[in-house]
This record gives sequence, structure tokens and C-alpha cells, in this order.
Amino acid sequence: MKTIAEINQKIKDGDVTVLTAKELCDAVRSGKSVSVEDVDVVTTATRGIMSGTLVILSFPVADPGVFSRAEQVFLNGVPANAGPCPNEHLGIIDLIVHGTAERNARYGGGHLFHDLISGAEIEVAVKAAGTGNETGTEKKSESGTGAEITTTVDIDDIPFARMLTTRSAYRNYNAFVNPGDAISTIFSVADFKGNCSEAAFGGCGEINPLEKDAGTIGVGTRILLNGAVGYVIGEGTRSTRERRNLSLFADMHEMDGSCISGFATSAGTDIINSIAMPIPVLSEDILSRASRLDSEIELPVVDIRTRKEIGRTDYSQVWRSGSEPRVTFELSLCVHCSTCNVLCPTGAFTGSEVINDLCCNCGHCASVCVGDAFAAEMGAIMLRGRKIPVTLRHSDRRGAIKLADELKQRIERGSFLLAEPVQRLGESI
Ligand code: SF4
Ligand code: SF4
Repeated sequence: MKTIAEINQKIKDGDVTVLTAKELCDAVRSGKSVSVEDVDVVTTATRGIMSGTLVILSFPVADPGVFSRAEQVFLNGVPANAGPCPNEHLGIIDLIVHGTAERNARYGGGHLFHDLISGAEIEVAVKAAGTGNETGTEKKSESGTGAEITTTVDIDDIPFARMLTTRSAYRNYNAFVNPGDAISTIFSVADFKGNCSEAAFGGCGEINPLEKDAGTIGVGTRILLNGAVGYVIGEGTRSTRERRNLSLFADMHEMDGSCISGFATSAGTDIINSIAMPIPVLSEDILSRASRLDSEIELPVVDIRTRKEIGRTDYSQVWRSGSEPRVTFELSLCVHCSTCNVLCPTGAFTGSEVINDLCCNCGHCASVCVGDAFAAEMGAIMLRGRKIPVTLRHSDRRGAIKLADELKQRIERGSFLLAEPVQRLGESI
């Protein structure tokens, strides 16, 4: 048995051996034998839709005395929850903003967080109780009993900006099909077609952190959340022994905008996060678990309405040969339909190009493009002898591989040490 302390000493000495989960799986696939002596850390990652995300912000919006209590706050038109601290008379607002909060069907909390982390100026609108002093951009409300404040901030104007997830980094997920009529759902971008004519799925398969872990991840594990160093708080909501998920936090100032985006579904806006986690290779059991391939990881197929399982496949059907499927766009192949079908959920497609930092390789564009401008290898699932094409991915394995690689480099550089968990998952306090 190695220990985390020994691995950390190797990191400090510049003597650590790190493999990404993809590198380990590629080695296993090619028949190479890897032992505990060959590797100290495996970096795993996942990137995809994670609805249980919120941010806590605290920043000044007015001089002291302008208002006594913020009542309604909007950031770029996205509603925020004022409080829990009222901060009377100080001109400071404390806010909680949900990743699923919406300005409209195309812009919500996830889009806002991306813009904020990327350094964009954010419009702040506050309706507050208490008399205003009409300084700067502040003005009295129509009723004359409160203040309406409009201003702009960027991330550097916000001293406290922390992201917290309540349900994230699921140990892989489901594939969805719709046996009934077409419906709007958070699991589709356009209406989810009926008669099991298309499938969507989530989960990064053989590089997924909780799938690859044999019990090393726990409360206090140091991780990367959207590129920032963060920590595991504990299990997330609806976490079960069979299918765990995690609650995490990290400082937004250190995050990378390319790791996060909004995602407009046919039933509301959602958010994409990226999470990387190190697995210390302390024993053969841990290495064996980390070495499992897509073909060994089951993917339940569920009815989109009832969420009841109606079939089962594995991740090798949707992530072919350990690939990192990318969606490509070739403008010269666009036939310029009078009405372009591509309503990109992240806003990455401008009509003439794809903004790489925003694209999550969901493949929706490739599924609906009338011409051949978009291309992606989306895979298919087999259900009761029927081959159902995948038309949407809720997870971006390409982006996850990129973050697992980033974590590997930080460990090799000595700028990221492993943290010993203070409590195992599933243990009570
Ligand atoms: S649907 Fe495809 S081919 Fe048609 S305009 Fe849009 S990108 Fe071009
Ligand atoms: S894969 Fe296509 S639809 Fe999905 S985010 Fe990228 S450009 Fe948009």
C-alpha cells in the first residue's frame, strides 16, 4: 500500500507518475500491463449538464444609506435571490443565483456564470426598500419609498464569488428514449421525438471520477471545478450507494470560462460544468477499478417520462473505442437553408462559425443540420433488437479529457497536492 502522504512527497520531489484515465484505458486496451509501481495518480473528469449548481455572490452596488434591504435583484436579467444576509444600509448585496434561473428560454444562470467568469461586464438591477439618496446611478423608485439601482460589475468587482454544487459529478448516468409522443424535456434541445426514434445520454463513461474510484474520494478531497481548485463537501442530493453524486465548492475567480456554459433545453435553461478529480493509486484494487473500460460500464436505458429502466447497454456503444468525439463545422458545406434548424443550446454557433470555448460537443447541430455542415460520430444504442440513433449528448467527453489533462499537468508541476479526505462517502458525521 502506498499512502497519499508518500504520493505528495513524490509530487514535491518532481518524481510523481500521473496518467489520465484516458491514457490508462488506452494502455489497457492496447494490452499493456500497468502496475501500482508504474503509476501514482490517475486523473479523471466529467463535463456535462449539472442542474444542481448555484453561486453565492457578495458585492457593493451603492453607497451606504442608499437602501436598507435589497428585495429584487437581476443580473443580466437573470433573477437572483437576495440574502440570506440583509446587509442593511451598507450598500452591499448578498445573493444566491441558481444555474437554472432564467432570463428567457435562451439565456439563464449557466450563460450568466460563463459570462461572469470570462470577464464580461454584467448588468445589475436592484429594487430595494428604504429611501435613496439619488447619487451616481441610483434613483428613487416610482413609489418614492425605495431605491432602484442599476450598475455594472465584472468578476473583479465581486470580492466573494463562490460556486457550490448540490448534485454533480454523477457516477455516469442514463440513456433516454421516448416510447410515447413528442415532449418538451430538460433532456432535449428540441422536442424529444416519440416512438423511440432518437436517444440522448449522459455520462463520460470510462473517464468518469466516481465510476473509476474505489473509495478514495471523500469529504475534503481536493478537485478542479471549472478549472478552479475546489473541494468535495460530501454527497449531493439524491445520491445513493449505487449511483453516487457529489456536492462541491470552489472560488469563481479562479475558474476558466471555457469549462462552463449555459445550455438551453426544450424545457428551460440549464448549466454545463467541468470537474476533474485525482485518484491516488494506493493499491491494486484501486488501480483495477480505475482501469475499467467503456465496455465494462453499463448504461441503463430509461423511458424519458417515467424514468423507468426499459433496457441496458454499455458506454462503448456511445463513446466508440475510447474516442473523444468532437463536433466539426465546415462553412463551405452549409447550403444556407432559408431557415437554419440549428438552435445551439450554448450559443456557440453564430450562423457562420462555432465558438470553441462555448461548444460542448453535444451533437444537436449535427443531428438537425439539413446539409453536411456539421459532422459528429454520435453512436447508437440497441434496444430490444432495434438500433436507435443518439441525437444528443448531455456530456462532453472531449472537454472532460482536456480538464483531466490539465489536472495531470498541475500535479506534475507540483502546483496541485492531493488532499486526504476527512470522511468517506456514505459515512455519517
Ligand atoms: S441547417 Fe445546416 S446547412 Fe442549413 S443553414 Fe443551418 S448549418 Fe447551414
Ligand atoms: S455541438 Fe453544436 S449544438 Fe452543441 S454546443 Fe457545439 S455547436 Fe452548439
